[in-house]
Amino acid sequence: MKILSVNAGSSSLKFQLYEMPEEKVLISGLMERIGIENSFYTIKVNGEKIKKEVSLNNHEDAFKALVKELEENNVVDSLDDIKGIGHRVVQGGDYFDKSVVIDDEVLSKITELSSLAPLHNPAAVIGIKAAEEVFPNAVQTVVFDTAFHQTMPKENYLYALPYSWYTDYKVRRYGAHGTSHKYVAQRANEILGRTDTKLITCHIGNGASVSAVVNGKCVNTSMGLTPNAGLIMGTRCGDIDASIIPYVMEKTKMTPKQIDEVINKQSGLLALSKKSSDSRDIEEGISNGDENCILAQKMYVRRIVDYIAKYYVEMKGCDAICFTAGIGEKSVDTRRDIMKELEVLGVKLDAQKNNVRGKEALVSADDSKIACYVIPTDEELMIARDTYKLV
Ligand code: ADP
Repeated sequence: MKILSVNAGSSSLKFQLYEMPEEKVLISGLMERIGIENSFYTIKVNGEKIKKEVSLNNHEDAFKALVKELEENNVVDSLDDIKGIGHRVVQGGDYFDKSVVIDDEVLSKITELSSLAPLHNPAAVIGIKAAEEVFPNAVQTVVFDTAFHQTMPKENYLYALPYSWYTDYKVRRYGAHGTSHKYVAQRANEILGRTDTKLITCHIGNGASVSAVVNGKCVNTSMGLTPNAGLIMGTRCGDIDASIIPYVMEKTKMTPKQIDEVINKQSGLLALSKKSSDSRDIEEGISNGDENCILAQKMYVRRIVDYIAKYYVEMKGCDAICFTAGIGEKSVDTRRDIMKELEVLGVKLDAQKNNVRGKEALVSADDSKIACYVIPTDEELMIARDTYKLV
């Protein structure tokens, strides 16, 4: 059975078509600048990479271009071969603790939650509606980034704020990257050969979050109402004293929108290094003795270690720490720095094993009290698996 996994942004569409249950990728690609001039797409099919510049005025055009490629490359005999389409949705609020088949009620809830994810949820709705037009016979499903975190206990998702903010405005911790944390936790349990585990999963890419997972269920996570909580990220500040916001707004006369832009797009590694949001540039800066980059890395690592220590205590122990996403999978130095800071918990680095990029591997020493793994994430595959089950 063929299942299409879709991640729609406001001007982009990422897709991957699977043969299920074999989990074989038949075609994958990214369409960019949808609705903007000079739109183009890149696809991988039959071992080939293709780039085409075509006019994509909207997401329906993007799906139609995909259909054309499917036909021209003989990936499907008929469009009806695609039985399910799974859409990634960032915010499911507390309505959804698992993936669901789309109906009118689901769509209206995703739209209602747009105020919590203004950049993402509306784009997903556009993608869903376009897919329904182009693939009318496929079952459409949604996979929520927040769903995995819905098992958090109340003491971990509530803020110490007036309770009416929670009941009236839905202010609480939702977390994000849930699909990735779930994938990595499942894979770690497979590696460990059991499910009664205490895991700390670190999704550290441009966006970054840490989760505590007990027996396969999330009990805590570092992102909050929005993704701008917890870790220092590429351009996000993560945890700060909340009072900084009104203080600086008053000083600078910035509007909520302007300050939001600063804390989301001009902070984090970019602000600290005064150079770049990309950890590759930070590493290069460190090797050249750049003091700002050295400080940025120190603070970046410190925050991750703080969360790992917090979740270690909360779970009363930890069987494995798992690193994933761009930095977690590829930054040998960041993993080394984190693991060194965790020596007090019995973590023991194996420098040779840690010299790995983008491949599943044990990176701690055999006698490390907590096993540390690199587990490359695969959110698209999780979307396809859930959709296959629902179909
Ligand atoms: P996103 O959150 O946008 O999905 P990714 O998970 O792809 O991001 O992570 C992207 C980040 O990973 C880059 O910004 C960079 O900081 C980091 N990264 C990618 N490759 C390397 C590498 N070889 N060494 C160190 N860091 C890397």
